[in-house]
Amino acid sequence: MLTQEKSEKVNWKPIIKEFEAVLGKKGVIKRQEELITYECDGLASYRQRPDVAVLPKTTEQVAEVVKICNKYSVPFIARGSGTGLSGGALPIQGCVLIVTSLMRQILNVDLDNQRVVVQPGVINNWVTQTVSGAGFYYAPDPSSQIICSIGGNVAENSGGVHCLKYGVTTNHVLGLKVVTANGDIVDLGGQVPEMPGYDLTGIFVGSEGTLGIATEITLRILKSAESICVLLADFTSVEAAGAAVSDIISAGIIPGGMEMMDNMSINAVEDVTATNCYPRDAVAILLVEIDGLDVEVKANKQRVIDICKQNGARNVTSANDPETRLKLWKGRKAAFAAAGHLSPDYYVQDGVIPRTQLPYVLQEIENLSEKFGYKIANVFHAGDGNLHPLILFDNSIPGELEKVEEVGGEILKLCVKVGGSISGEHGIGADKKCYMPSMFSDADLETMQWVKQVFNSKGLANPEKIFPTPRTCGEAARAMSQNKFENVEKF
Ligand SMILES: Cc1cc2nc3c(=O)[nH]c(=O)nc-3n(C[C@H](O)[C@H](O)[C@H](O)COP(=O)(O)OP(=O)(O)OC[C@H]3O[C@@H](n4cnc5c(N)ncnc54)[C@H](O)[C@@H]3O)c2cc1C
Repeated sequence: MLTQEKSEKVNWKPIIKEFEAVLGKKGVIKRQEELITYECDGLASYRQRPDVAVLPKTTEQVAEVVKICNKYSVPFIARGSGTGLSGGALPIQGCVLIVTSLMRQILNVDLDNQRVVVQPGVINNWVTQTVSGAGFYYAPDPSSQIICSIGGNVAENSGGVHCLKYGVTTNHVLGLKVVTANGDIVDLGGQVPEMPGYDLTGIFVGSEGTLGIATEITLRILKSAESICVLLADFTSVEAAGAAVSDIISAGIIPGGMEMMDNMSINAVEDVTATNCYPRDAVAILLVEIDGLDVEVKANKQRVIDICKQNGARNVTSANDPETRLKLWKGRKAAFAAAGHLSPDYYVQDGVIPRTQLPYVLQEIENLSEKFGYKIANVFHAGDGNLHPLILFDNSIPGELEKVEEVGGEILKLCVKVGGSISGEHGIGADKKCYMPSMFSDADLETMQWVKQVFNSKGLANPEKIFPTPRTCGEAARAMSQNKFENVEKF
């Protein structure tokens, strides 16, 4: 469980006065009842009310606010829509939350050069909605895309079901306007890909708000595919579904998306969304989207059907029309929300494994489920080996959260053990920082912190995130400083 440091008492009066001079009274939230909205993100088991929240509308206002924070040495944390699942936007005591939800303008649409410039509070889905009429779309599509912000996506380097073929957020950000941690306004990258010099855009994407605040983002948009087909294959074993995933990739087919759901997840989404498409008795289903030229889609569709059948699929259904395709994806996109139907609370883990380790890792997760006595539903971006085990529990029972976190930690160690990673797309935030030493050496972590130091020398931008500290993760941080963490076992 996260521990919060008792900060020195901050005298907020002069600070708020200065914020109000920049943002007006409406742009500064200080009443406790209103601040409750901001006390957690999607990792709702951790809560800490911010002392103040501010709602800037422009880059210049963000810069002024950050300068005031520097003047009074108060930490600040950026927040987009607050859907993050690793506690990245979780306040700490004595902090200002800089909320981008009024920065929602699409500043420029340049179809000829396939780019769109947005403010950070713009919702992911709005980008595609803006350009789809002209035959374009924005590829990264987190399942939270109807609510999460582009600023949050940039900070977390978010992925989604269509990132297997087209890449995650970092592959679609051309340039950024950033307010640095000391309040300077700088431009990183530009309007074209592969700018000369150091890839500072690449460093910023995925930095979880620890290097500054993105206030304008230039995104790459793609031409919509000529043809799209979604296939649903149902299997009587997870091993068979996993083998089909490997065989599809080995055959040289890169689907737009390839997702797997287990029986518990299938039934949860059918209970909640009633797609009537997902067979309730399947042990696992695969959703495979193939896109491209019409002729290519037709050929690959047949090859995927053949591969699934060779691996024992009972049925393979397909959809070409947009309405049915949407219906097939609807259940998958609602999978996390549907888990709420299975138990009062759930804890989402996010790890990556090599695809070939899928059957072994799922068996080990099943063993952990039995050992600790928690049901675990599984949903994954199977194509890129990104697991999302959903551990079901009741947070009203004292001590349950700590036990569930232990199970989550065991799953992360398992991912590292088989040559994977402790995060696929949800970031490290407050939640996983204590596991960083299980994946990185102290030299790795120190190098990362040099970068942080350059951008955020006073440590005011999103402190207590990503890196273990002795106070927040005693053992892990101590082991790190003594270089005593276990060597990662490689398979
Ligand atoms: C139901 C559900 C499904 C999800 N599915 C996916 C998925 O498929 N793929 C995926 O990758 N994630 C997924 N997520 C996680 C989450 O939606 C993403 O991490 C998303 O990018 C967070 O965006 P946000 O606007 O909510 O950011 P927040 O939660 O507000 O913030 C996230 C982090 O970004 C930082 N930040 C926010 N704005 C800025 C800015 N302008 N500049 C610098 N730092 C900033 C914050 O400080 C914080 O560290 C899911 C979450 C939910 C609840």
